[in-house]
Amino acid sequence: MQQIALLGATGSIGTSALDVIARHPDRYSVAALTCAHNVRKLASLAKEWRPAVVAVAHKENWAALKEAMHEVNVTGVEMLAGAEAIASIAESRAVDTVLQAVVGAAGLEPTFRAAAAGKRILLANKESVVCGGETLMQLARTRGAKILPVDSEHNAVFQCLEGCDAAARANVRLWLTCSGGPFHAHPETDLESVTPERALAHPTWSMGRKISIDSATLMNKGLEVIEAHHLFGVPGERIGVVIHPQSVVHSMVEYADGSVLAQLASTDMRLPIAYCLGYPERLEAGVRKLDFASAMNLTFTPPDTARFPQLALAYEALAMGGTGTIVLNAANEVGVQAFLAGKIGFCDIARLCRAMLEKADGTAAATLEAILEADREARRSAADWVREKTAARGA
Ligand code: NAD
Ligand code: MG
Repeated sequence: MQQIALLGATGSIGTSALDVIARHPDRYSVAALTCAHNVRKLASLAKEWRPAVVAVAHKENWAALKEAMHEVNVTGVEMLAGAEAIASIAESRAVDTVLQAVVGAAGLEPTFRAAAAGKRILLANKESVVCGGETLMQLARTRGAKILPVDSEHNAVFQCLEGCDAAARANVRLWLTCSGGPFHAHPETDLESVTPERALAHPTWSMGRKISIDSATLMNKGLEVIEAHHLFGVPGERIGVVIHPQSVVHSMVEYADGSVLAQLASTDMRLPIAYCLGYPERLEAGVRKLDFASAMNLTFTPPDTARFPQLALAYEALAMGGTGTIVLNAANEVGVQAFLAGKIGFCDIARLCRAMLEKADGTAAATLEAILEADREARRSAADWVREKTAARGA
């Protein structure tokens, strides 16, 4: 039995993960479940899964968690609260596998602690790779941790690189596919005035709010370029992005001879989750099979970085190195939150990212502490930018 800690259990990925785990009760046991705020959902999951421990990210939510657990009549489950509690679950001896589905840089510390403890890490939280970079990858290597990518594009690349030796890998080019988000197919849309509601309506994937906005700005693909660079050791110049609105090809690897290997499947995150869970075995995950007996059109076009500048900013941040990608990620998180709260416009997210990146100097951040400090500093500066913008709007 593999003992699994599911961080971010109440979210979109968390829900898909539990669906896959439920199909294989003979192989997986849920040892821990965590979330940020939704204590009622966490308590009902605890009733269903009977983990040894549940945790909420904020200490002030502990009493609410206790009450929610009492309401559903669950006893014998340890209840913890605070960021440190979640990080300690990630490194716990009682856990073999950490399914990291927290959203944002809040996932950094648990990912580092799981890596330091040599865990098998099923990684959906791309922000921890974007910020952790080579420091995280190096830590995982030295401690024998295995990072398996849940992000569908990286999972596709991972599958297409199977059996590829180091020499062949040194020359590959990666093509990350991108649905284009809700606005790609609507060039008439005035992006300056789009509402959060419209930006959240993704055409092919149903996901959490933050990644849905990232998909609308193409920042998601930008973060994924950086993520791919670190996970697979391929330089940014050899990572391309291609708009593929059908979301059937999940990404591609081009080899030196010109062969391109692609992974195709329906748009269902249970597939990459199951691939990581079972790896190297393949598990049934309830995923609808592609129907090649019916007509299917697959199209590929280049992205429009003038309309969606955040994708270009990600390449710039990657080239800058050091704190560049940490600053970009933090500015984006603050910007997305401010946009969702109605404080800034959709295009302001990119303006904020550019302004913060222009101030960044790419100094090295080679320890977790340095990374966390760069993240905090960038958030402070981004919050100031939002305040000034909001004040100017009100004036
Ligand atoms: P979500 O918003 O649906 O869920 C996020 C989870 O993280 C929730 O359980 C929430 O309670 C928890 N959380 C939020 N803030 C936290 C904090 N400060 N500390 C601890 N826990 C916290 O998000 P999601 O769509 O499931 O995405 C999760 C991660 O997976 C993101 O990094 C996202 O980029 C990545 N991802 C998601 C998808 C998808 O299809 N949803 C696909 C690829 C990658
Ligand atoms: Mg993805």
